[in-house]
Amino acid sequence: MIALTTGLGAERIHLDRNYSRAVTAGGGFPVLLPPDADPEEVLQRFAGLVLTGGGDLDPHYYGEEPASGLGSVSPERDWFEIRLARLFLAAGKPILGICRGLQVLVVAAGGSLYQDLPAGAIQHYQRAPREHRSHGIRLSGDSTLAGVLGGTEFRVNSFHHQAVRDLPAGFRAVGFSPDGIIEAVEATEGPFLGVQWHPEDLFAERPEAAALFRYFVERVGRAS
Ligand code: MN
Repeated sequence: MIALTTGLGAERIHLDRNYSRAVTAGGGFPVLLPPDADPEEVLQRFAGLVLTGGGDLDPHYYGEEPASGLGSVSPERDWFEIRLARLFLAAGKPILGICRGLQVLVVAAGGSLYQDLPAGAIQHYQRAPREHRSHGIRLSGDSTLAGVLGGTEFRVNSFHHQAVRDLPAGFRAVGFSPDGIIEAVEATEGPFLGVQWHPEDLFAERPEAAALFRYFVERVGRAS
């Protein structure tokens, strides 16, 4: 069983369905978690956590005031996901962070973000369809992720205007876009990794994206 965090509407929880499709295709049993669940109980009941994509994280979690370019923030979701991430980190239970989820993972462990990337050489919030792979990335050859994906150079989709700035102790950047933005992070010890792109929108067509979910589900199974 893989716990997936969700987005919050006024009286709804929501999640792009491709997350549950991708986890299922990877061999897992997806369970959506609203913030009503007690984080301590989630830790007891689940062996693996996927922190999903969504809006911006409250910069107060990394000691900053909101910048003018900050997008919409969901305080309840932020609290729930930061708490969950810290519990899973402390317990050594596997976490996969996707887009916002990578950012939550990094901040929960003590890192920080760019609140709003300046306009640069590369468009990181693509206007192309979800499954279009708009920019390249390069992975460290010695990373877990390169082994799982089966290479070091890929094209990925990109729907973010924030990015990882400072990495916490115990984590390293293992993937970069050509403009130097951190696109993938993994723990030096422990089953924690995150990607800035959206593999759940690519798994049906791209073997490396499907491989990431298979790996994570298998890793959760090994840990539980
Ligand atoms: Mn990007």
